[in-house]
Amino acid sequence: MGFRRVLIGSVVLLTCLTTGATAGAAVLNLPTLHWPTIGLHRAIESDPPLPEATPPDSAPEPAPTPDPDPIPAPAPSPITAPTPAPIPAPAPTPAPIPAPPPAPVPAPTPTPAPTTNLPQPLYSLPTKNREVVITFDDGPGPYTTAILKILATEKVPAAFFWIAGNKQVSLAADVLSLGHQLGSHTMTHLKLTGADAKVQLDELTRSQQVLAAAAKEKITYFRPPYGAYNADTQAVASGLGLTLVLWNVDSRDWALAAHPEQIIPGVMQQVKPGSIILLHERAQTVQTLPDLIEALREAGYTFRLLPAGG
Ligand SMILES: [Zn+2]
Repeated sequence: MGFRRVLIGSVVLLTCLTTGATAGAAVLNLPTLHWPTIGLHRAIESDPPLPEATPPDSAPEPAPTPDPDPIPAPAPSPITAPTPAPIPAPAPTPAPIPAPPPAPVPAPTPTPAPTTNLPQPLYSLPTKNREVVITFDDGPGPYTTAILKILATEKVPAAFFWIAGNKQVSLAADVLSLGHQLGSHTMTHLKLTGADAKVQLDELTRSQQVLAAAAKEKITYFRPPYGAYNADTQAVASGLGLTLVLWNVDSRDWALAAHPEQIIPGVMQQVKPGSIILLHERAQTVQTLPDLIEALREAGYTFRLLPAGG
């Protein structure tokens, strides 16, 4: 009998709990129960590297994010003040202080190099000759073939940095046979500075392997997505024989789909001997490429490849 009571009591309690803690508490005259909050956000935080099954390139915009390679956090503006600080005008001089000249926009410097003994990334070529390297990020994708065609017509070599999780990596062999260079841009376009060393190692190792298998050649160049890297990236890249390649001319082509006419002036304003020019595999880039090559040639530039990596 006593046992039955306990049993029935338990059933009532359970029912109450399932129908609502507050209601149950009211019936049993108990204090309101507080359910522990389940750790839902943990699943979001521990986001593992995306399986390579997500090819970010099937859409016309191959980059997995709408914001590919934005200028990496501008370096703590090294060129802040050759301009005299505007004097707060105690000077009795009648002449109005001329507005400080608009500081020339410094070439967007990708992430400042962390202090380390590891090899430093390549931002430009060590040359005083009017030579440049043009580089294309975020392929392979729907524009790769068109870009290769233009480069072949113009007889311009280039370096491609590919997301190895994209579908068309089999084009790697064509890229190399046409005299271009191929580097890794990770498997999934992951922002590496948000990943630990193990994840970074995985991204770089797998992308290097996938591209090497497709290209039938060792991959010795690497460009971190968004230009974002840290000491772990440097260590991992160095261990894999990958040279980190950044840029000192950012065409911002990815952001100029609606204003492709701004791509060439932007590049010509920044370019100098030895520049590494950042472009992306995008429709507006394909559209602009022949004229960009012509503009650079008219300014006396020739095109070359990256120095031997690895
Ligand atoms: Zn990218």
